[in-house]
Amino acid sequence: MPKQLKTVSSNDKSWGHCQNCNYFASPARIPLPTEEAHCNHPELKKFELVVFGASGCSGFRLRQGLPVTVEEPAAGVSPA
Ligand code: SF4
Repeated sequence: MPKQLKTVSSNDKSWGHCQNCNYFASPARIPLPTEEAHCNHPELKKFELVVFGASGCSGFRLRQGLPVTVEEPAAGVSPA
């Protein structure tokens, strides 16, 4: 049985947006929030999911070359 993905929490540092995720199968160098692409997460790939760049999940893994700050809340904005 595959390992279950964690539930989402606003303080969960492993959660991130598809557009910044290593598993987002976009050919773009800088994927946009409105872009659609397959999710290639090892545990999700079998479902052939197509996700938006603005989507996200706890299986997120930062794309190579991006700074961790790309997924941090903007200064002065607190999570709901
Ligand atoms: S659904 Fe999750 S694992 Fe798949 S691309 Fe989006 S953030 Fe990454």
